[in-house]
Amino acid sequence: MKAKGHEQVLVCSDVPSGLSAIIAIHSTKLGPALGGCRMWPYPSFDSALSDVLRLSKGMTYKAAMAGLSLGGGKSVIIGDPRKDRTPARMIAFAKQVALLGGRYIVAEDVGITVSDIDLFRTITPHVAGFSEAPGGSGDPSPATALGVFLGMQTCLEEVFGDCSFRSKRIAIQGMGKVGYALAKLLHVANAHLIISDMDPEKVAIGCREFNGDPVHPHEIYRVDCDLFAPCALGGILNDRTCPALSCKIVAGSANNQLQHAEVAQLLHERGILYAPDYVINAGGLIHVAANDDADTKIKAIYGRLKEVFRLAKTESLLPSEAADKLAEAILKK
Ligand code: NAD
Repeated sequence: MKAKGHEQVLVCSDVPSGLSAIIAIHSTKLGPALGGCRMWPYPSFDSALSDVLRLSKGMTYKAAMAGLSLGGGKSVIIGDPRKDRTPARMIAFAKQVALLGGRYIVAEDVGITVSDIDLFRTITPHVAGFSEAPGGSGDPSPATALGVFLGMQTCLEEVFGDCSFRSKRIAIQGMGKVGYALAKLLHVANAHLIISDMDPEKVAIGCREFNGDPVHPHEIYRVDCDLFAPCALGGILNDRTCPALSCKIVAGSANNQLQHAEVAQLLHERGILYAPDYVINAGGLIHVAANDDADTKIKAIYGRLKEVFRLAKTESLLPSEAADKLAEAILKK
């Protein structure tokens, strides 16, 4: 907590329902800490803890960069969403969120859907991204995908001089909620897609609907492409995967793509432009948090990324360092 500057970390357990969860509030300096809840079969408590600490800090920076009056928080439920997502467990988790009295606002993330948020809402009002019917903002994934798409245009301009997707080879890792919505936009923009997912059925659907080529999850890093879009889990850019990459740009929705900070340098040395994750994937957060001006704020991702690349160039920084510098300046103010 000290190393990353967290305000509060709540370890939650409910024996009758089997709930094991952690809620991390990194900062409430700009407002209540809004962040998704991730359900994942973490191999250990420590791996869940390090994930939630990293993710919640990222949310502080993401909200600051997106110009939102929100802090950064995140939660994780340890378990397999396919079999452990029982109503009793979800309700026990929502009660823990309620205890925080609005310091943490829960939204969806990997393994959690809008229907879970609706269930949380029966216990606590401190939720975001519930169903559209009762007046919620619904699934944020299409908004995240739109922000990523616009950020990709910034990257294409930076590297190729124009933002056209025509005939560009784009490899997408993860055909989940964001990956699928992103593939749809890219297909319409005439990109050529290469698709991977752990779930072969999702790959088949993506390839069929968007005329893409399938690739095995282990092979995605080696694929010859213009742009690699990580839209699955974090930590996938590391000492092992970076040397294998055969792309000019990395730009995707996954949170915490860099396994450690030095990976950004590795990418730079290989001539690969990296779009800092929390800048390019803020569309969903903006969608659930902003009201009337969400569209304008999502469209601003294009220009914000330009600003990051400009600062990186003028001050000889890596894009990730430039983004951190801009976010920290906002937080200091
Ligand atoms: P999701 O659970 O709907 O999809 C993730 C997909 O990735 C799944 O289909 C899963 O099978 C696949 N996957 C997991 N490991 C993989 C691997 N090694 N190789 C290939 N595929 C793999 O999640 P999502 O909502 O689409 O989110 C995707 C990423 O974007 C996550 O990192 C999430 O934190 C981030 N993100 C999502 C949003 C949002 O609005 N949903 C917003 C910001 C950031």
